[in-house]
Amino acid sequence: MGELNVFFFPFMAQGHMIPTLDMAKLFASRGVKASIITTPLNQPVFSKAVEKYAQLGFQIQIRLLQFPAVEVGLPEDCESADKIPSGGDARPKFQKACAMLQKPLEDLLQELRPNCLVADMFFPWATEAAAKFDIPRLVFHGSSYLAMCAMNSLKTHKPFRDVTSDLELFNIPNLPHELKLTRLQVSPVDRSELETPFKEMFRRVLKSEEISYGVIFNSFHELEPDYADHYMNVLGRRAWSVGPLSLYNRDVEDKAQRGKKSAIDEHECLEWLDSKNPHSVVYICFGSGANFAPSQLHEMAMGIEASGMDFVWVIRNKREEDSGSEKWMPEGFEERTKGKGLIIRGWAPQVLILDHPSIGAFVTHCGWNSTLEGVCAGVPMVTWPLFADQFLNEKLMTDILRTGTGVGSKEWKNVDCDGVKREAIAEAIKKVMIGEESEEMRSRAKAMKDKAKKAIEEGGSSYLGLSSLLDELRTYHAN
Ligand code: UDP
Repeated sequence: MGELNVFFFPFMAQGHMIPTLDMAKLFASRGVKASIITTPLNQPVFSKAVEKYAQLGFQIQIRLLQFPAVEVGLPEDCESADKIPSGGDARPKFQKACAMLQKPLEDLLQELRPNCLVADMFFPWATEAAAKFDIPRLVFHGSSYLAMCAMNSLKTHKPFRDVTSDLELFNIPNLPHELKLTRLQVSPVDRSELETPFKEMFRRVLKSEEISYGVIFNSFHELEPDYADHYMNVLGRRAWSVGPLSLYNRDVEDKAQRGKKSAIDEHECLEWLDSKNPHSVVYICFGSGANFAPSQLHEMAMGIEASGMDFVWVIRNKREEDSGSEKWMPEGFEERTKGKGLIIRGWAPQVLILDHPSIGAFVTHCGWNSTLEGVCAGVPMVTWPLFADQFLNEKLMTDILRTGTGVGSKEWKNVDCDGVKREAIAEAIKKVMIGEESEEMRSRAKAMKDKAKKAIEEGGSSYLGLSSLLDELRTYHAN
């Protein structure tokens, strides 16, 4: 049979679109005809890279679906998660608008008959859409095996019901390791008995995972082998690992142009980093969706300064308009840290920074993309989870790989995150940068970085994972 034609349909949030673009590039580099489905206002996330790869001779393109924001009562420009107005029923409306994409998606599938649809977990209806045309649907969660296994356990066993206080530790049952959480670190949707539209959606997500052709992971076997095995052999899911996807960005341009437009010129940024000694700078960034209380940002600044380390600090609160006012900034902070610190207000070229030899540690919210990018850079991490799967990803770094130390984040919260004191921040940064255990952590991190690189090389575990998936897809349609 001829070449495979695969459609990729990411949820409209940076943490989903960025790895999906990398995945489409990867598939195209292996001879697949790749099409990314998105909405008009999200096209810029993909267009530069797609143009570049198409010019290099790969078969990759974008297909647009109109997003019915106005029809569901959202502002016209609300086509991505970071544009959803806070409060009210904007989130369910956004979900509704996403679900309204099912019909236009079906029209596209009917017309173009791809061999496979890789669609985001947030689009559970995509399985049904693809099934109408006998197209296998793969789910992309953009999360770790560990998080998927742990969430399954939490939903099934509800161990947080057996503790007497919000801060008492409990074990997440039936996992390959003993991993502990507190009730406050579990998502409020999971710990509450209330039926909400969000809870219902997650039920549909789980169901769609069970009835889909399989699940594709941005992970690699050597990183979390016990959890990949558990997911496939105990939970009985079909899964393929093809990551770490960020490693498919090899030159400065690719690394600098992921997601939004950088708020700093990449050469200026590299020049600043070049002026620093190896492993002497701590990089601090919390992904695309973090929303800290102003008092926490103040405390963070004080903690960073108290650590005495050189730093790159990316300041962006979820809503761009919030970060305009910086009343929380300690007086004189920027003058006092001049030369020692580089503040990036807005979007940073994260992978470019992390891969620079001067970076000695990464303070991260443990979003799965950031976690993997830290792994690929071989740097120890200060883990500061906030919400989503982040408290679970933290466990992989701190308890299993032992390449990170926690800052002591206590509560799952996606707005006004607060509660971590400056002393804890300074201590954790010093511990991974210069503390007694820092060399050991660094050498473990470096060993995992080498394994990550090997995984995507020809013959490596992720390389072979993709080969076997592509072989299966070829035979699916040959039969
Ligand atoms: N990112 C970036 N610059 C920024 C903030 C984030 O390039 O200033 C990228 C980061 O490299 C990662 C993604 O955005 O690829 C964030 O995904 P992650 O899963 O870490 O967190 P989320 O944004 O989904 O919470």
